[in-house]
Amino acid sequence: MSDKSTVKKQPDLIAVQNLKKYFPVRAGVMQRVVAHVQAVDDVSFSIKKGETLGMVGESGCGKTTVGRTMLRLIEPTAGSVIYGGKDIFQLKNNELKLVRRDLQIIFQDPYASLDPRVPIGESVMEGLHIHKIGTPKERVDIMMETLKKVGLETYHARRFPHEFSGGQRQRIGIARALALRPKFIVCDEPVSALDVSIQSQVLNILKDLQSEFGLTYLFIAHNLSVVEHISDRVAVMYLGKMVELADRDELYRRQLHPYTQALMSAIPVADPKLKRKRLILKGDVPSPLNPPSGCRFHPRCPIAQKICAEKEPEFRELKPGHFAACHFAENFL
Ligand code: SF4
Repeated sequence: MSDKSTVKKQPDLIAVQNLKKYFPVRAGVMQRVVAHVQAVDDVSFSIKKGETLGMVGESGCGKTTVGRTMLRLIEPTAGSVIYGGKDIFQLKNNELKLVRRDLQIIFQDPYASLDPRVPIGESVMEGLHIHKIGTPKERVDIMMETLKKVGLETYHARRFPHEFSGGQRQRIGIARALALRPKFIVCDEPVSALDVSIQSQVLNILKDLQSEFGLTYLFIAHNLSVVEHISDRVAVMYLGKMVELADRDELYRRQLHPYTQALMSAIPVADPKLKRKRLILKGDVPSPLNPPSGCRFHPRCPIAQKICAEKEPEFRELKPGHFAACHFAENFL
């Protein structure tokens, strides 16, 4: 988390406008498209320079698809992502390659993206080779410096991925992203697979690197306590839609969407005297193949009315900087 007042004054670094990602479902001998999975449906937001935007929601809500589509690791169905005055979705070959230096990703499972036969020093330098940055000696210097920045030792460069623990592998994942000195990093559940004791170490590294390099993060997670720890603002996704967005402190104090209220009610409270009433949602998350009409949350919402199944609620600003998509959000102000 960065210095709040400074971050608020910063310009937007990256802006997502009306992003849609529908995955085709094919069937039959001819493999005709018979339906679409609406993984992300009309999502807009921006992130300021030096800010961390946390993005939460149950698995399948579309948060990972948002992050990957922003970097064009997955091609979008519609919308735009504005970075440096240009729409990333319109860029071709060399222009896209240039922008990719600035935009990196840290995966939940760095092991899957590391070649088991390649020493990790080489993996960390891979991006430098691809982008033809520096001489061979300069690349080694950048790699060594980057390993130290993430708390690894220079002798680790010669070791192979299987010689590291889960926490160390995630440090390697961060080093790979950092070697190119990016401006923006999508952190896709970077601590979800780690032991709790290691999680805070990795989160602290991410925070330190943010201060040192002025990094901007989209931090994707399903653990609300982790998101609270690192984010400046938090966005909540449900079934491909953004349903709430607010400053972190504001959102954890007051939720204007019943889905966010249910998520928050499930966070364990350390003090047994401070009992929180747990809101249990009925049913499972519906399929994004055939999302419910009107408000997608209506089959599970404890306060749903007739209009909820008929009309999609607008994502609107109810207080300065606090947005929610619920017909009855005013009731919670
Ligand atoms: Fe619940 Fe209706 Fe609000 Fe959707 S619009 S969250 S169904 S009250």
